[in-house]
Amino acid sequence: MRGAKAGQQSKTTCPYCGVGCGVKAAVEAGTLSAVEGDREHPANFGRLCVKGSALHETLGHHGRLTRPSVDGVEVSWDAALSATANRLNTLRDEYGAQTVAAYLSGQLLTEDYYVANKLFKGFLGTPHLDTNSRLCMASAVVGYKRAFGADAVPCNYEDLEEAELVVLVGSNLAWNHPVLYQRLKVAKERNPLMRVVVIDPRVTDSCEIADLYLGIQPGSDAYLFNGLLAWMAQHQKLDTLYLERHTEGLEEALKAAQQTAGSVAEVAVACDVDPERLETFYYWFASQLHVVTLYSQGINQSASGTDKCNAIINCHLAGGKIGLPGAGPFSMTGQPNAMGGREVGGLANQLAAHMDYHTPGALDLVSRFWTTDSLTPCLPDSPGYKAVELFEAIERGEIKALWVMATNPAISLPGAARVRAALKKCPLVIVSECAAHTDLLPYADIVLPASGWSEKDGTVTNSERYRLSRQRGMLPPPGEAQHDWWIMCEVAKRLGFAEAFNYTHPWEIFDEHARLSGFENEASSKGSKRLFDISGLIGLGREGYDALAPIQWPVTKAAPHGTARLFADGEFATANGRAKLLAIRPQGPKQALSAAYPLRVNTGRIRDQWHTMTRTARSPRLMNHRTEPFIEVHPDDARSAGVVDQELAVLTAAKGEFIGRVRVSSAQRRGDVFVPIHWTDCFTKQARSSALIDSITDLLSGQPEAKHGAVALAALPTDWQATLIVADGLSDASPWCESAYWARTPMRGCQRWQLANTQPINDWLAQINAWMPRPLSVMSQDPANGRLRAVGVEKGQLCWWLMVGPPKELPGLAWLEARFNDTSLSDTHRRRLLAGCDDGAAETGPVICSCHQVGQTTIVKAIREGDVSVEALGARLACGTQCGSCIPELKSLIEEERPSARAKQSPNSEVA
Ligand code: SF4
Repeated sequence: MRGAKAGQQSKTTCPYCGVGCGVKAAVEAGTLSAVEGDREHPANFGRLCVKGSALHETLGHHGRLTRPSVDGVEVSWDAALSATANRLNTLRDEYGAQTVAAYLSGQLLTEDYYVANKLFKGFLGTPHLDTNSRLCMASAVVGYKRAFGADAVPCNYEDLEEAELVVLVGSNLAWNHPVLYQRLKVAKERNPLMRVVVIDPRVTDSCEIADLYLGIQPGSDAYLFNGLLAWMAQHQKLDTLYLERHTEGLEEALKAAQQTAGSVAEVAVACDVDPERLETFYYWFASQLHVVTLYSQGINQSASGTDKCNAIINCHLAGGKIGLPGAGPFSMTGQPNAMGGREVGGLANQLAAHMDYHTPGALDLVSRFWTTDSLTPCLPDSPGYKAVELFEAIERGEIKALWVMATNPAISLPGAARVRAALKKCPLVIVSECAAHTDLLPYADIVLPASGWSEKDGTVTNSERYRLSRQRGMLPPPGEAQHDWWIMCEVAKRLGFAEAFNYTHPWEIFDEHARLSGFENEASSKGSKRLFDISGLIGLGREGYDALAPIQWPVTKAAPHGTARLFADGEFATANGRAKLLAIRPQGPKQALSAAYPLRVNTGRIRDQWHTMTRTARSPRLMNHRTEPFIEVHPDDARSAGVVDQELAVLTAAKGEFIGRVRVSSAQRRGDVFVPIHWTDCFTKQARSSALIDSITDLLSGQPEAKHGAVALAALPTDWQATLIVADGLSDASPWCESAYWARTPMRGCQRWQLANTQPINDWLAQINAWMPRPLSVMSQDPANGRLRAVGVEKGQLCWWLMVGPPKELPGLAWLEARFNDTSLSDTHRRRLLAGCDDGAAETGPVICSCHQVGQTTIVKAIREGDVSVEALGARLACGTQCGSCIPELKSLIEEERPSARAKQSPNSEVA
């Protein structure tokens, strides 16, 4: 599809997190002018979080890759595709099929994923095709397979609403899956008997609705759930009938739990939590049947993540809390289509259509279906390298050609410096990408411009028990950008596989995917029926595919409308139909703390950003919540390290550094620090969280231990700090990036640069002249304190604005941002420009409510004036009234400010 008609409203799916919200998008005059939540989509029923509701602000051709290039030279598509095919062929002929590899992404659509898997495993004959979903949910996959015999999530979103107890463990749902959090919150308001327990080393915004919070020691989750299993047995809370009929392995699992966890007091010590609170949780879990345990990267991103998943699943099986409405273990994926990737076989240890290399008869079945049985080399017969192993193989020189699609391993993989060195030495790196500037592109030999959200057409699967939804193409891709499936098919044709890659539209790929899922898929002597079956969607045709409504698989002749819940009958996908309880022996993090690196670093997402910000940074309002990379640290640790709130600090690990602004917070445990994952070399000097993490993985899943680095914290000494705002396109060279610290924040029509350096600048006038391509217009300087403000205006247009001083002295920047978009500044503006704000313009502070751009200073003022509830603030300022993502922060501010608000309201305030 190359575009939608003007005035058309299209239904599609949000491209960010695993919630998979339905979006209605309005297309007018060739642009996507507005989005709103799709009230009919069962994932969100009309809700969108702040990222989803800003989707239309992230579009446009600026900053997009629009032409293919080979060896840094722009070429035609034909030349780029031929170069790709020829170079792949040459290396494959010379070194063998298994020296070719692909690294994919949970951002790809299922149809792209299917073609990639078929091309690399089926036709190029290499098993080395993995995906960045490895970093997100590989441990959850292995956990399900070990327990249920298939990668099958038992729950759906309604289960969260129907549960009596919801346990959030290793998941900051409020920030990472905001719409699902809103659904849970509403359900809790409607059902006062529902309880929520949050288990997390950090006090996150998800604690807003917690009845009980357990701030466990990082990595101690398996102790906690082993302790729960032992406690249930001790207090006769096991569902013996369910265990007897539907499971096996209880004896070994229980023995391991009893041996390793011990008493409640011992578990409390191992987890560093209060024993009474711990036992309250155990009692609540054991006494309710309708319990959902929702877990995410806090569980998965560990060297023993798979065991943690199974420790959770054990407790659900032991209590029969599964296969019922409102009950079950529920892993949430980070990415929009991690599930689709799992379905087609996008992990290196999978083959295709949820079949593994060891699935009896699978190799023969897939080979016959793809007609690769006569090829040499044929389908590989054993798994390929998982993500971290893949880059180690590149480093060894074993992999000669790598094709990366829609992801950025130079940022996201642990041991970032090694990954970059490996990419540098790889003889052929092909990158399919939307964005014109990423940290990966400098390593690419061949760059292929790909289509993005609103242009791509296909399907995605969300976290909710595999609900397939359509992501629809509404706009033509910019320039010469093309869809990923098309690019791969064209390369396949040039490799001599035209017949197998002759698709003309994604519906044909989906149809083949559906046919493979149902191909010879019935229970037989070789094994049980495969759960992944969407054969009921075969033969939709283009029209049926275009109209496809969200549906949960399996979709078969017997279940043409999909399947709402798995395992309701207690029948699992194992050979004997029984679920397995696993004997779990808990392990702590593998990255050891030491005198040199005494702090544990945890990494994660923030509310308004997505991955490496190539998309979210295009919406200035999403940048206002957290404008710089930061380091969150407990007040005691801040004191010991000599770092100060809002000043700069550096985290040092054995192989890397991270520079960010300090946020002192008692939400952090002592001994732990938190850093965001989003900032790249395109946005700051040195704040790649992956540089702080060793390449240690879970042995079973290959998922990196991304939440357990070991670091030291110290202040970054600076001689000066400055804020420089520069009109877009004025200086691509950015000479100020020589500073010891810089962070760039895109604004509307301009870029804000936060700068700091250890070297003094004695002559600011000379420095400004050296930095700026446009002359200084007006400047004010206070030699007593080194503060300075300067402005460059040319032909009535504001070109740049500089303030030397700490960023806490910044005025509210909204007025200034608007001036960068003024084309006729008058002389009377000059004095105001120096101040950075209009006379009387209020300073709003950092943005808390991104939807309505309401800042902290404004909110605090309203609270102090008596608006001491979220509702009152909403009525006055509109904050918190749209997506609701900021409500936990509003509540925190109310809590912090309530004493001063009360004092102000009290008639005896002076006495009080
Ligand atoms: Fe998109 Fe996730 Fe927000 Fe829904 S919750 S709008 S899927 S980012």
